[in-house]
Amino acid sequence: MSLFQQNFAATLAPMRVRFGAGARHLVGEEMERLGLSRALILTTPQQADTGAEFAAALGARAVGVFSGAAMHTPVPISEAATAQAIALGADCVVAVGGGSTTGLGKAIALRTDLPQIVVPTTYAGSEATGILGQTEGGRKTTITTPKVQPEVILYDAELVRTLPVAMTVTSALNAMAHAAEGLYAQNRSPISTLMALEGIRAFRDGLPRVIAAPDDLTARGETLYGAWLCGTVLGTVGMALHHKLCHTLGGSFDLPHAETHAVILPHAIAYNQRAAAAELAPLAEILGATSPGAGLHDFAVRMGAPLALRDLGMKESDLDRAAEIAVQNPYWNPRPIEQAAIRHLLQAAWAGDAPSE
Ligand code: NAD
Repeated sequence: MSLFQQNFAATLAPMRVRFGAGARHLVGEEMERLGLSRALILTTPQQADTGAEFAAALGARAVGVFSGAAMHTPVPISEAATAQAIALGADCVVAVGGGSTTGLGKAIALRTDLPQIVVPTTYAGSEATGILGQTEGGRKTTITTPKVQPEVILYDAELVRTLPVAMTVTSALNAMAHAAEGLYAQNRSPISTLMALEGIRAFRDGLPRVIAAPDDLTARGETLYGAWLCGTVLGTVGMALHHKLCHTLGGSFDLPHAETHAVILPHAIAYNQRAAAAELAPLAEILGATSPGAGLHDFAVRMGAPLALRDLGMKESDLDRAAEIAVQNPYWNPRPIEQAAIRHLLQAAWAGDAPSE
Protein backbone atom coordinates (compact mmCIF):
# COMPACT_ATOMS: atom_id res chain seq x y z
CA MET A 1 0.00 0.00 0.00
CA SER A 2 1.33 3.44 -0.87
CA LEU A 3 1.90 5.95 1.92
CA PHE A 4 -0.08 8.64 0.07
CA GLN A 5 -2.06 11.07 2.23
CA GLN A 6 -4.77 13.22 0.68
CA ASN A 7 -3.58 16.37 2.42
CA PHE A 8 -0.09 17.10 3.59
CA ALA A 9 2.66 19.69 3.72
CA ALA A 10 6.32 18.71 3.89
CA THR A 11 9.23 21.01 4.76
CA LEU A 12 12.57 19.36 4.24
CA ALA A 13 15.71 21.14 5.42
CA PRO A 14 18.59 21.45 2.96
CA MET A 15 21.45 19.25 4.11
CA ARG A 16 24.37 17.57 2.44
CA VAL A 17 25.08 14.06 3.67
CA ARG A 18 27.93 11.72 2.78
CA PHE A 19 28.18 8.13 3.91
CA GLY A 20 31.10 5.73 3.89
CA ALA A 21 33.79 4.08 5.98
CA GLY A 22 36.51 6.76 6.12
CA ALA A 23 34.09 9.65 5.35
CA ARG A 24 35.81 11.66 8.11
CA HIS A 25 38.68 12.22 5.67
CA LEU A 26 36.31 14.31 3.53
CA VAL A 27 36.16 17.21 6.00
CA GLY A 28 38.83 19.19 4.10
CA GLU A 29 37.11 18.59 0.76
CA GLU A 30 33.75 19.72 2.17
CA MET A 31 35.33 22.83 3.69
CA GLU A 32 36.84 23.68 0.31
CA ARG A 33 33.49 23.18 -1.42
CA LEU A 34 31.97 25.75 0.96
CA GLY A 35 34.95 28.13 0.63
CA LEU A 36 36.03 27.57 4.25
CA SER A 37 39.57 27.36 5.54
CA ARG A 38 39.62 27.85 9.36
CA ALA A 39 37.87 25.09 11.34
CA LEU A 40 37.39 24.93 15.09
CA ILE A 41 37.06 21.24 15.98
CA LEU A 42 34.66 20.31 18.80
CA THR A 43 34.60 17.17 20.96
CA THR A 44 33.81 16.04 24.51
CA PRO A 45 36.76 15.62 26.91
CA GLN A 46 36.39 11.83 26.37
CA GLN A 47 36.90 12.22 22.61
CA ALA A 48 39.73 14.77 22.75
CA ASP A 49 42.13 12.32 21.07
CA THR A 50 39.79 12.01 18.10
CA GLY A 51 39.69 15.81 17.92
CA ALA A 52 43.49 15.92 17.86
CA GLU A 53 43.51 13.41 14.99
CA PHE A 54 41.12 15.62 13.00
CA ALA A 55 43.31 18.66 13.70
CA ALA A 56 46.43 16.81 12.55
CA ALA A 57 44.68 15.65 9.36
CA LEU A 58 43.43 19.16 8.55
CA GLY A 59 46.80 20.82 9.27
CA ALA A 60 46.62 24.60 8.77
CA ARG A 61 42.89 24.38 8.03
CA ALA A 62 42.27 23.61 11.74
CA VAL A 63 42.65 26.71 13.93
CA GLY A 64 41.97 24.91 17.20
CA VAL A 65 40.26 22.14 19.16
CA PHE A 66 37.68 22.78 21.88
CA SER A 67 37.17 19.58 23.87
CA GLY A 68 34.68 20.77 26.48
CA ALA A 69 31.33 19.63 25.02
CA ALA A 70 28.97 18.35 27.74
CA MET A 71 25.52 16.75 28.03
CA HIS A 72 22.51 19.10 27.57
CA THR A 73 24.61 21.95 26.10
CA PRO A 74 25.24 24.11 29.20
CA VAL A 75 25.17 27.80 28.17
CA PRO A 76 28.45 28.75 29.94
CA ILE A 77 30.30 26.11 27.87
CA SER A 78 28.66 27.35 24.66
CA GLU A 79 29.74 30.90 25.50
CA ALA A 80 33.32 29.83 26.20
CA ALA A 81 33.50 27.86 22.93
CA THR A 82 31.95 30.75 20.97
CA ALA A 83 34.54 33.14 22.45
CA GLN A 84 37.29 30.75 21.38
CA ALA A 85 35.85 30.45 17.85
CA ILE A 86 35.79 34.25 17.52
CA ALA A 87 39.26 34.73 19.05
CA LEU A 88 40.76 32.17 16.67
CA GLY A 89 38.98 33.64 13.63
CA ALA A 90 37.26 30.32 12.85
CA ASP A 91 35.06 30.32 9.75
CA CYS A 92 33.33 26.99 10.55
CA VAL A 93 32.96 24.37 13.26
CA VAL A 94 33.60 20.65 12.85
CA ALA A 95 31.66 18.75 15.54
CA VAL A 96 32.94 15.20 16.06
CA GLY A 97 30.85 13.17 18.51
CA GLY A 98 27.35 12.43 19.74
CA GLY A 99 24.40 14.69 20.45
CA SER A 100 26.28 16.66 23.11
CA THR A 101 29.04 17.73 20.73
CA THR A 102 26.61 18.39 17.89
CA GLY A 103 24.64 20.53 20.35
CA LEU A 104 27.71 22.63 21.08
CA GLY A 105 28.27 23.20 17.35
CA LYS A 106 24.65 24.31 17.02
CA ALA A 107 24.99 26.63 20.02
CA ILE A 108 28.00 28.30 18.36
CA ALA A 109 26.10 28.54 15.04
CA LEU A 110 23.19 30.17 16.86
CA ARG A 111 25.51 32.86 18.19
CA THR A 112 27.75 33.35 15.15
CA ASP A 113 26.08 31.85 12.05
CA LEU A 114 29.24 29.79 11.44
CA PRO A 115 28.59 26.80 9.15
CA GLN A 116 28.71 23.36 10.76
CA ILE A 117 30.22 20.13 9.49
CA VAL A 118 29.11 17.28 11.77
CA VAL A 119 30.79 13.89 12.03
CA PRO A 120 28.41 11.85 14.25
CA THR A 121 29.74 9.06 16.43
CA THR A 122 26.41 7.97 18.00
CA TYR A 123 22.91 7.43 16.59
CA ALA A 124 21.26 10.35 18.48
CA GLY A 125 20.36 12.11 15.21
CA SER A 126 20.81 15.72 16.36
CA GLU A 127 22.93 16.42 13.27
CA ALA A 128 19.80 16.09 11.10
CA THR A 129 17.67 18.63 13.00
CA GLY A 130 17.34 22.37 13.46
CA ILE A 131 16.65 21.80 17.17
CA LEU A 132 18.91 22.92 20.00
CA GLY A 133 18.31 22.01 23.65
CA GLN A 134 20.31 24.15 26.08
CA THR A 135 20.58 24.28 29.87
CA GLU A 136 21.16 27.29 32.08
CA GLY A 137 20.74 27.44 35.85
CA GLY A 138 19.26 23.92 35.87
CA ARG A 139 16.57 24.81 33.29
CA LYS A 140 16.42 23.19 29.87
CA THR A 141 15.00 25.16 26.97
CA THR A 142 14.61 24.13 23.36
CA ILE A 143 14.96 26.34 20.30
CA THR A 144 14.00 25.31 16.77
CA THR A 145 15.51 27.43 14.02
CA PRO A 146 17.15 26.85 10.63
CA LYS A 147 20.14 28.82 12.02
CA VAL A 148 21.30 25.70 13.89
CA GLN A 149 20.67 23.15 11.11
CA PRO A 150 24.08 21.71 10.18
CA GLU A 151 25.23 22.25 6.58
CA VAL A 152 27.15 18.98 6.07
CA ILE A 153 27.01 15.57 7.77
CA LEU A 154 29.74 12.98 7.25
CA TYR A 155 28.66 9.52 8.44
CA ASP A 156 31.74 7.37 8.97
CA ALA A 157 31.12 3.79 10.13
CA GLU A 158 34.74 3.55 11.32
CA LEU A 159 34.15 6.22 13.97
CA VAL A 160 31.00 4.72 15.44
CA ARG A 161 32.79 1.36 15.77
CA THR A 162 34.27 2.49 19.12
CA LEU A 163 30.83 3.14 20.63
CA PRO A 164 30.52 0.54 23.41
CA VAL A 165 27.81 -2.08 22.80
CA ALA A 166 25.59 -0.91 25.69
CA MET A 167 25.64 2.67 24.36
CA THR A 168 25.13 1.38 20.83
CA VAL A 169 21.89 -0.27 21.90
CA THR A 170 20.48 2.66 23.90
CA SER A 171 21.50 5.17 21.25
CA ALA A 172 19.81 3.05 18.56
CA LEU A 173 16.57 2.90 20.57
CA ASN A 174 16.81 6.66 21.10
CA ALA A 175 16.92 7.02 17.31
CA MET A 176 14.08 4.56 16.73
CA ALA A 177 11.93 6.59 19.14
CA HIS A 178 12.11 9.60 16.77
CA ALA A 179 10.81 7.41 13.95
CA ALA A 180 8.14 5.66 16.03
CA GLU A 181 6.63 8.96 17.20
CA GLY A 182 7.00 10.41 13.71
CA LEU A 183 4.57 7.79 12.42
CA TYR A 184 1.61 9.40 14.20
CA ALA A 185 2.76 13.03 14.18
CA GLN A 186 -0.02 15.42 13.21
CA ASN A 187 2.23 17.10 10.62
CA ARG A 188 3.60 13.85 9.16
CA SER A 189 3.81 13.46 5.39
CA PRO A 190 4.37 10.44 3.14
CA ILE A 191 8.04 11.42 3.07
CA SER A 192 8.47 11.51 6.87
CA THR A 193 6.63 8.17 7.14
CA LEU A 194 8.81 6.67 4.43
CA MET A 195 11.93 7.77 6.29
CA ALA A 196 10.61 6.58 9.65
CA LEU A 197 9.78 3.09 8.40
CA GLU A 198 13.06 2.74 6.53
CA GLY A 199 14.98 4.00 9.59
CA ILE A 200 13.32 1.40 11.83
CA ARG A 201 14.04 -1.31 9.24
CA ALA A 202 17.71 -0.29 9.13
CA PHE A 203 18.03 -0.72 12.90
CA ARG A 204 16.02 -3.96 12.90
CA ASP A 205 18.47 -5.41 10.39
CA GLY A 206 21.70 -3.65 11.37
CA LEU A 207 21.62 -3.56 15.17
CA PRO A 208 21.69 -7.33 15.85
CA ARG A 209 24.66 -7.61 13.48
CA VAL A 210 26.47 -4.75 15.22
CA ILE A 211 25.93 -6.41 18.61
CA ALA A 212 27.22 -9.73 17.27
CA ALA A 213 30.25 -8.04 15.67
CA PRO A 214 30.79 -4.40 16.78
CA ASP A 215 33.54 -3.99 14.15
CA ASP A 216 31.28 -4.97 11.24
CA LEU A 217 31.53 -1.79 9.18
CA THR A 218 28.64 -2.68 6.87
CA ALA A 219 26.32 -3.19 9.83
CA ARG A 220 27.64 -0.03 11.52
CA GLY A 221 27.01 1.84 8.28
CA GLU A 222 23.45 0.55 8.10
CA THR A 223 22.74 1.68 11.66
CA LEU A 224 24.16 5.14 10.85
CA TYR A 225 21.84 5.20 7.84
CA GLY A 226 19.00 4.45 10.28
CA ALA A 227 20.20 7.25 12.56
CA TRP A 228 20.17 9.75 9.70
CA LEU A 229 16.64 8.76 8.64
CA CYS A 230 15.27 8.75 12.20
CA GLY A 231 17.03 12.04 13.03
CA THR A 232 15.57 13.62 9.89
CA VAL A 233 12.10 12.55 11.03
CA LEU A 234 12.76 14.23 14.40
CA GLY A 235 13.76 17.42 12.57
CA THR A 236 10.76 17.29 10.25
CA VAL A 237 7.68 16.53 12.38
CA GLY A 238 6.41 17.09 15.92
CA MET A 239 7.01 14.62 18.74
CA ALA A 240 4.51 13.63 21.45
CA LEU A 241 4.19 11.54 24.64
CA HIS A 242 7.43 9.60 24.39
CA HIS A 243 9.67 12.64 23.96
CA LYS A 244 7.77 14.68 26.57
CA LEU A 245 8.10 11.90 29.15
CA CYS A 246 11.82 11.51 28.45
CA HIS A 247 12.22 15.29 28.71
CA THR A 248 10.50 15.23 32.13
CA LEU A 249 12.56 12.31 33.41
CA GLY A 250 15.83 13.74 32.12
CA GLY A 251 15.15 17.33 33.16
CA SER A 252 13.55 16.83 36.58
CA PHE A 253 15.14 13.57 37.75
CA ASP A 254 18.47 13.77 35.98
CA LEU A 255 18.09 10.41 34.25
CA PRO A 256 20.53 9.64 31.40
CA HIS A 257 19.27 10.62 27.93
CA ALA A 258 19.62 7.58 25.66
CA GLU A 259 18.93 4.98 28.38
CA THR A 260 15.70 6.76 29.38
CA HIS A 261 14.54 6.76 25.75
CA ALA A 262 15.31 3.05 25.53
CA VAL A 263 13.24 2.21 28.64
CA ILE A 264 10.25 4.45 27.86
CA LEU A 265 9.83 3.71 24.13
CA PRO A 266 7.78 0.45 24.27
CA HIS A 267 5.56 1.89 27.02
CA ALA A 268 4.85 5.20 25.27
CA ILE A 269 4.06 3.46 21.99
CA ALA A 270 1.83 0.91 23.76
CA TYR A 271 0.00 3.83 25.42
CA ASN A 272 -0.77 5.26 21.97
CA GLN A 273 -1.24 2.07 20.00
CA ARG A 274 -5.04 1.97 20.02
CA ALA A 275 -5.43 5.67 19.30
CA ALA A 276 -2.97 5.47 16.38
CA ALA A 277 -3.61 1.87 15.32
CA ALA A 278 -3.37 2.37 11.56
CA GLU A 279 -0.27 4.58 11.76
CA LEU A 280 1.60 2.17 14.07
CA ALA A 281 0.58 -1.06 12.30
CA PRO A 282 3.60 -0.97 9.92
CA LEU A 283 5.93 -0.67 12.94
CA ALA A 284 4.54 -3.92 14.39
CA GLU A 285 4.82 -5.53 10.97
CA ILE A 286 8.48 -4.52 10.56
CA LEU A 287 9.24 -5.97 13.99
CA GLY A 288 7.25 -9.15 13.22
CA ALA A 289 4.99 -8.54 16.24
CA THR A 290 1.27 -8.56 16.92
CA SER A 291 1.38 -5.07 18.46
CA PRO A 292 3.89 -2.20 18.19
CA GLY A 293 4.50 -1.85 21.97
CA ALA A 294 5.13 -5.57 22.41
CA GLY A 295 7.30 -5.59 19.28
CA LEU A 296 9.50 -2.79 20.65
CA HIS A 297 9.69 -4.46 24.07
CA ASP A 298 10.76 -7.80 22.56
CA PHE A 299 13.31 -6.05 20.35
CA ALA A 300 14.73 -4.21 23.39
CA VAL A 301 14.94 -7.49 25.34
CA ARG A 302 16.69 -9.23 22.44
CA MET A 303 19.16 -6.35 22.08
CA GLY A 304 19.97 -6.44 25.82
CA ALA A 305 18.68 -2.88 26.39
CA PRO A 306 17.98 -1.53 29.88
CA LEU A 307 14.30 -2.13 30.66
CA ALA A 308 13.70 -0.51 34.05
CA LEU A 309 13.82 3.11 35.24
CA ARG A 310 14.85 1.82 38.66
CA ASP A 311 18.09 0.57 37.12
CA LEU A 312 18.76 4.13 35.87
CA GLY A 313 18.50 5.59 39.39
CA MET A 314 14.80 6.57 39.43
CA LYS A 315 13.20 6.31 42.89
CA GLU A 316 9.76 4.70 43.14
CA SER A 317 8.76 7.49 45.52
CA ASP A 318 9.31 10.02 42.69
CA LEU A 319 6.85 8.38 40.28
CA ASP A 320 3.82 10.38 41.51
CA ARG A 321 5.69 13.64 41.00
CA ALA A 322 6.92 12.52 37.57
CA ALA A 323 3.34 11.77 36.51
CA GLU A 324 2.23 15.19 37.81
CA ILE A 325 4.96 17.04 35.92
CA ALA A 326 4.33 15.02 32.77
CA VAL A 327 0.71 16.21 32.55
CA GLN A 328 1.36 19.85 33.52
CA ASN A 329 1.88 21.41 30.10
CA PRO A 330 -0.72 20.21 27.63
CA TYR A 331 0.53 19.03 24.23
CA TRP A 332 -0.89 17.07 21.35
CA ASN A 333 -0.81 13.26 21.59
CA PRO A 334 -2.93 10.74 19.70
CA ARG A 335 -4.42 9.54 22.99
CA PRO A 336 -5.35 12.10 25.66
CA ILE A 337 -2.74 12.40 28.41
CA GLU A 338 -4.41 11.08 31.60
CA GLN A 339 -2.45 11.35 34.83
CA ALA A 340 -3.60 7.99 36.25
CA ALA A 341 -2.73 6.18 33.02
CA ILE A 342 0.65 7.92 32.86
CA ARG A 343 1.33 6.94 36.48
CA HIS A 344 0.48 3.34 35.54
CA LEU A 345 2.84 3.54 32.53
CA LEU A 346 5.64 4.90 34.72
CA GLN A 347 5.17 2.12 37.29
CA ALA A 348 5.60 -0.54 34.59
CA ALA A 349 8.62 1.28 33.13
CA TRP A 350 10.12 1.66 36.61
CA ALA A 351 9.78 -2.04 37.33
CA GLY A 352 10.91 -3.18 33.86
CA ASP A 353 7.61 -4.93 33.07
CA ALA A 354 6.32 -5.49 29.56
CA PRO A 355 4.06 -2.60 28.50
CA SER A 356 0.32 -2.90 29.13
CA GLU A 357 -1.66 -3.56 25.98
P1 NAD B 1 26.69 12.14 24.08
O1 NAD B 1 26.98 12.96 22.89
O2 NAD B 1 26.45 12.85 25.37
O3 NAD B 1 27.85 11.06 24.26
C1 NAD B 1 27.92 10.30 25.45
C2 NAD B 1 29.38 9.91 25.72
O4 NAD B 1 29.80 8.96 24.74
C3 NAD B 1 30.34 11.09 25.62
O5 NAD B 1 31.31 10.95 26.60
C4 NAD B 1 30.96 10.90 24.23
O6 NAD B 1 32.23 11.48 24.13
C5 NAD B 1 31.02 9.39 24.13
N1 NAD B 1 31.01 8.90 22.75
C6 NAD B 1 30.28 9.33 21.72
N2 NAD B 1 30.53 8.62 20.63
C7 NAD B 1 31.47 7.70 20.95
C8 NAD B 1 32.13 6.68 20.23
N3 NAD B 1 31.86 6.41 18.95
N4 NAD B 1 33.06 5.95 20.88
C9 NAD B 1 33.30 6.16 22.19
N5 NAD B 1 32.70 7.11 22.93
C10 NAD B 1 31.79 7.87 22.31
O7 NAD B 1 25.42 11.18 23.84
P2 NAD B 1 24.24 11.17 22.78
O8 NAD B 1 23.26 10.20 23.29
O9 NAD B 1 24.76 11.04 21.41
O10 NAD B 1 23.64 12.65 22.87
C11 NAD B 1 22.80 13.05 23.93
C12 NAD B 1 22.54 14.53 23.88
O11 NAD B 1 22.10 14.89 22.58
C13 NAD B 1 21.48 14.98 24.85
O12 NAD B 1 21.88 16.20 25.45
C14 NAD B 1 20.26 15.20 23.98
O13 NAD B 1 19.37 16.15 24.51
C15 NAD B 1 20.90 15.65 22.69
N6 NAD B 1 20.08 15.39 21.49
C16 NAD B 1 19.64 16.45 20.79
C17 NAD B 1 18.89 16.27 19.65
C18 NAD B 1 18.44 17.46 18.86
O14 NAD B 1 17.87 17.31 17.78
N7 NAD B 1 18.64 18.66 19.36
C19 NAD B 1 18.60 14.98 19.20
C20 NAD B 1 19.06 13.89 19.93
C21 NAD B 1 19.82 14.11 21.07
